[in-house]
Amino acid sequence: MTRPAGGSGRRLGTAGVRAGTARTGFSEHSDALFLTSSFTFDSAEQAARRFDNQEEGHVYSRFSNPTVDAFQRRLAALEGAEACLGTASGMSAILTCLMGVCSAGDRVVASSQVFGATVSLLDNFLSKFGVTVDYVHSNSPDEWEAALGSPAVLALVETPSNPMMRVFDLRALAGMCGRNGTLLAVDNCFCTPRFQRPLEHGAALVIHSGTKYIDGQGRVLGGAVLGSRELIGRMFPFLRAGGPALSPFNAWVLHKSLETLGVRMEAHQRSALEVARFLEGCPRVGRVLHTGLPSHPDHEVAAGQQDGHSGVISLLLKDAGRQDAWAFINRTRLFSITANFGDARSTITHPASTTHLRVPEAVKRAIGLGENLVRLSVGLEDAEDLKDDLSRALEGG
Ligand SMILES: *Cc1c(COP(=O)(O)O)cnc(C)c1O
Repeated sequence: MTRPAGGSGRRLGTAGVRAGTARTGFSEHSDALFLTSSFTFDSAEQAARRFDNQEEGHVYSRFSNPTVDAFQRRLAALEGAEACLGTASGMSAILTCLMGVCSAGDRVVASSQVFGATVSLLDNFLSKFGVTVDYVHSNSPDEWEAALGSPAVLALVETPSNPMMRVFDLRALAGMCGRNGTLLAVDNCFCTPRFQRPLEHGAALVIHSGTKYIDGQGRVLGGAVLGSRELIGRMFPFLRAGGPALSPFNAWVLHKSLETLGVRMEAHQRSALEVARFLEGCPRVGRVLHTGLPSHPDHEVAAGQQDGHSGVISLLLKDAGRQDAWAFINRTRLFSITANFGDARSTITHPASTTHLRVPEAVKRAIGLGENLVRLSVGLEDAEDLKDDLSRALEGG
């Protein structure tokens, strides 16, 4: 290896482009892709030393891989984390986190507004191993204070939440967790480190689905969990033994995508704000939920911890039910009907009948997730075209 091509400790935009780069002897400018399952040794003795952790170096890509390392270093630089583990998907990041910190008899406190598969993982699988979970239905600090009054190993939130866009005050939550010896883990998919760095606000762990804005073009699955060397060190043995490793190919895609994360997030934010303001003026729209709008109940909290806003918008149709919401969705032409978000292509979905289908009615009522709610992910098309499409679809044309 010659002149170091990376460099951390720089500003966020620079770190996204430069951190974690490692050049090989060929002096390639873009990053090499190490698409290999295993690594060779100079001798049987060296193999033995590597397996016994007496000598550093790659052994097998389920444990570590240079391309995965590069992605981990770059994302760690962006989140301001000591350590990062790349995983096969966002869900395997959450699984790795839970397996690393939970033991039988432990209690987890989670927001009921976390990703649906996270609820399923906690309720149907962690429960089999004696880990209990209590849900908090709101972002009210009083309710969290009460829930964290009993011992809990981990508190899990997603902020802003999906699809209600509620914002959790990270400093307040981190303070409560700190007093009670609870680790605060924050799913940072919506804001990405471009707009929110939870560790700066006192969180112990950050979780990502790289599948969303980090890839940004809907191509690959991937995930990551970040935190202190000590905490991530508790998760690595699970990754090694359990195998939810990030594919080197996907790591390469995600690593290169981080170079454009900053400009993409700025563009998503700009168009989303334009679309959100436009929707606020549409007579068929009752409410628009976007943390960048002053009308949003958590606008102030968001301003205290976010540098910007994602491209996701939820809207509530006025005097409407499921059929009206579906008809509106079906009338759009430019938006893709898909549950994913964070893509260059704008997407539209009806959470109550898709992503949040299995959320109990009582929880849906408690959080305000009705049949008239439609979620948009504003992509990188021209905002004027998106507004035209929505306007026509709303007017029934
Ligand atoms: C999509 C998503 C996940 C799960 O990520 P996958 O990569 O699909 O496994 C977790 N959390 C949030 C907030 C998500 O949007």
